[in-house]
Amino acid sequence: MASADVIIIGGGISGAAAALGVVEEGAGKVVIFDEQLPSQRLSRGNFGLTWYMCKGANNPVYAAWCRMATQQWPEFARKLEEETGYDLELEWTGGAIQAFDEDQYKAHEQSIATLKSACGEVGLDYPVNMLSRQEFADMVPDIEVGEDVLGMMYTADQGHVNPLKLLAAVRCAFQQKGGVYHGGHSVTSISPKQDGSVTVKTSRGTYSCGKLVIAAGHGSQRLLNPLKIKLHVYPQRGQLMVTERYKRVLKIPVLCTRQTPDGTFLIGLSTEDAALDSSVTLPAMKNQASNAVRLFPLLRKLNWVRSWGAIRVMTPDGAPIYSRVPDHPNITVLALHSAVSLAPLTVSKIAPWILDKGESSQIAHFSNERFHV
Ligand SMILES: Cc1cc2nc3c(=O)[nH]c(=O)nc-3n(C[C@H](O)[C@H](O)[C@H](O)COP(=O)(O)OP(=O)(O)OC[C@H]3O[C@@H](n4cnc5c(N)ncnc54)[C@H](O)[C@@H]3O)c2cc1C
Repeated sequence: MASADVIIIGGGISGAAAALGVVEEGAGKVVIFDEQLPSQRLSRGNFGLTWYMCKGANNPVYAAWCRMATQQWPEFARKLEEETGYDLELEWTGGAIQAFDEDQYKAHEQSIATLKSACGEVGLDYPVNMLSRQEFADMVPDIEVGEDVLGMMYTADQGHVNPLKLLAAVRCAFQQKGGVYHGGHSVTSISPKQDGSVTVKTSRGTYSCGKLVIAAGHGSQRLLNPLKIKLHVYPQRGQLMVTERYKRVLKIPVLCTRQTPDGTFLIGLSTEDAALDSSVTLPAMKNQASNAVRLFPLLRKLNWVRSWGAIRVMTPDGAPIYSRVPDHPNITVLALHSAVSLAPLTVSKIAPWILDKGESSQIAHFSNERFHV
């Protein structure tokens, strides 16, 4: 039987970032098995925001966690780019969320007050404020801001990235540092042994490891079933659409619309219960497109050229699950939304915790057991 010090199931951004961190911690032989099903394209099909704004309104620890992640993002990206040669297309140009009416504007103000206080309690800033339509328009002079926009929630301290390049760079850095990546390789079962090791059966062989990380997105529950663990995640579909290229006119990403450095506009913010069906629908496209046109009327003139759906890994409170499997402390489960934004912390905080080398005070808060009532 082949063996490894650490096996990671899932090579999406969570598994790959955890694997990179674990290798950097000097964990020995680290192997990723990644099934790469076309239906599981979450880490390649997301919007690419590296955000903290608005996250954690009902969960102050999560709010602070998101803020910490964005504080680490620029240096995280710089190091990855230097090590791998990839250009992540990170633009640290801030971010905004529109308010189309008074109610939305007031809700944004309330959200800022709540999250400022949550971050302030743990000594973190929350540099977010409301802008009038004109103030925001002055910041994006090359594109008209729609008359329907009443104002914008805005922060200068976040950005957007190319998620495909991010994933490629993280996997590349992992392998450069000695990690082994097996794509198209499915794990069929896991079984913990008396001595604390774990046996992992794959479509191509059986392996033994000292520590196992399950970061298999919606594939995680199937692996946990024999251990009688219920992972508290549910599927939520999001649909995205892409326009033809246009000269660069928008450098500040808005939550539902951003322009990439190559000129395309990426549009989308749908949230649907469609189980694991990742198809796209005309009603969602129409809704997203009309929202985006209200925001930036220019978009009415551009052709929509491509779209896709992807299935979020959502938890009931929106915050991540970082959890040890009860009675099996060598098995860790990572299941999360916003894994792009949180990637720096997966490397810097989650990896050492996986290896029992140190636990940030926040991590216990994100256990799967918090949902057992
Ligand atoms: C429309 C949309 C927009 C989003 N926008 C953003 C955003 O702007 N910013 C942000 O931070 N987040 C965003 N997200 C969320 C983000 O995409 C996810 O949090 C992230 O991709 C989750 O990564 P993951 O590695 O945990 O899961 P996944 O990407 O699902 O990776 C899991 C991997 O495990 C593999 N796997 C499953 N079962 C097995 C098995 N038995 N054996 C081996 N491998 C297996 C799968 O094939 C897959 O490759 C968005 C999501 C959606 C849907």
